[in-house]
Amino acid sequence: MSSGEPCSHIGEITEVKRPARRVCEECVKTGDRWVHLRTCQACRRTLCCDSSPNRHARAHALSSGHPVIASAEPGERWLYCYPDDAYAEY
Ligand SMILES: [Zn+2]
Ligand SMILES: [Zn+2]
Ligand SMILES: [Zn+2]
Repeated sequence: MSSGEPCSHIGEITEVKRPARRVCEECVKTGDRWVHLRTCQACRRTLCCDSSPNRHARAHALSSGHPVIASAEPGERWLYCYPDDAYAEY
């Protein structure tokens, strides 16, 4: 773990991926609603947050092993690592 970074996964991120489209890719298929959007920093999939009924971002992190998401909300600049429960603003 590099000094000053909350975890090694966040420390590896050099350029934050922003969403291609501002929708949850899974909720739009089923017509479900979401609260906030998160973008996977490994594959750029944009999915819904833990306040949303389906929690697709967390499910994706667990199933894929992709640890870090960024907020996809306008004006929010932070990263979160699921396995380490680590948070960082950028
Ligand atoms: Zn981590
Ligand atoms: Zn969703
Ligand atoms: Zn991913």
